[in-house]
Amino acid sequence: MNDVFMNTYTRLPVTFSRGEGSWLYDINGKKYLDFGSGIAVNLLGHNYPPLVRAVTEQAAKYFHVCNYYLSDASVAFAEKLVEATEPAGIKNVFLANSGAEANEGACKLARKYSLLKYGKGRHTIVTLKGSFHGRTITTLSATGQEKFHKDFGPFTEGFLHIPGGDIATLEAALDEKKVAGLLIEAVQGESGIVPQSDEFITAAAKLCAERDILLMFDEIQCGIGRTGSFLAFEQYKDEKGNPIKADIVTLAKGLAGGIPAGAVLAGEKTRCVFSAGDHGSTFGGNPVAAAAGLVVLKTVNNPEFLADIVHKGDILMKALRSHHMIKEVRGRGLMIGFDIESDAWPFLQAGIARADNSKNQSGLLMLSAGAKTIRLLPAYTILDSEIDQGIEILSQLLCAG
Ligand SMILES: *Cc1c(COP(=O)(O)O)cnc(C)c1O
Repeated sequence: MNDVFMNTYTRLPVTFSRGEGSWLYDINGKKYLDFGSGIAVNLLGHNYPPLVRAVTEQAAKYFHVCNYYLSDASVAFAEKLVEATEPAGIKNVFLANSGAEANEGACKLARKYSLLKYGKGRHTIVTLKGSFHGRTITTLSATGQEKFHKDFGPFTEGFLHIPGGDIATLEAALDEKKVAGLLIEAVQGESGIVPQSDEFITAAAKLCAERDILLMFDEIQCGIGRTGSFLAFEQYKDEKGNPIKADIVTLAKGLAGGIPAGAVLAGEKTRCVFSAGDHGSTFGGNPVAAAAGLVVLKTVNNPEFLADIVHKGDILMKALRSHHMIKEVRGRGLMIGFDIESDAWPFLQAGIARADNSKNQSGLLMLSAGAKTIRLLPAYTILDSEIDQGIEILSQLLCAG
């Protein structure tokens, strides 16, 4: 253990010093195939030349201006972000730095919308069991997993967790006298890669529209192309078969391809709710992050690029499904989870321990999501041949374990 850090993370025994595409190299020169992308962050891989160029060019111009002013980089990024999400109902954005910060902003936005229209007391935000929305006190409140809550109360009031998939419970929970918003991950990441059913999302959209409850999607992990559409919820339909429009969407993780960035996106109902002074963030819309984010948006929000994510995900899921030791594979696009018999953590350790230059052997970087689920979130730029290599290593690890 390196004791300069507080003890917040269980770490695997490896220290990285260089990356290239879907490969990371440790301080001893050992090589690892990256099937985790830093938890859906490095979605264009490591050291992606257009990203490196955009960041270095922006850094050579200026790093930061405060929010008294606009910056050309953040204007270009925000315009592209609205363009990419307009089909999903988005009209304008607030730029932040992280997922938790984006969700905090989303909760403030939902509460103010309801307060302005209906007065006090209609502030509850309904979220799902198994959800993950962040580590701040309020976003922990929103997170529907008890294991993250211990030791840190009292929490922000006004959150209600209900099971996903249960439409009767949803209907009862969405009390129009009390509830401002419903916050959902279309595909839950942290709790094991759990896509919500079509019926559930369709019902949620209908109930929210009827009761003027804001339909809010946390797309921090599943958005920005991860599932093969720019936003994951775009694959769901309303009861008439039309695309669903969101009232609020949050993004972060891969939004700037590895530079910290987050965003709160507002639809028609919420676009004018905040007034000057209501919300802010010193680093939100940072020009270097915005320059990186612009490259991500230009690259990912392209039908052919998105189709290729689906293609790569299909190769990977098909191979996993055909493996005799894997029972169930869940996921969409390059957001994939499967359960193993043994614990996930030693499996990740085995993926690291395998790296050995003398045997010309590389390691495999994977993620867990719960005690026995392996989560794979490769970069969108991964090559088919690298997917095959990863599958081969995975298969060896499964048979060895
Ligand atoms: C990672 C994550 C968050 C929190 O993001 P941070 O940048 O770590 O604050 C919130 N929601 C979802 C769905 C996430 O995957």
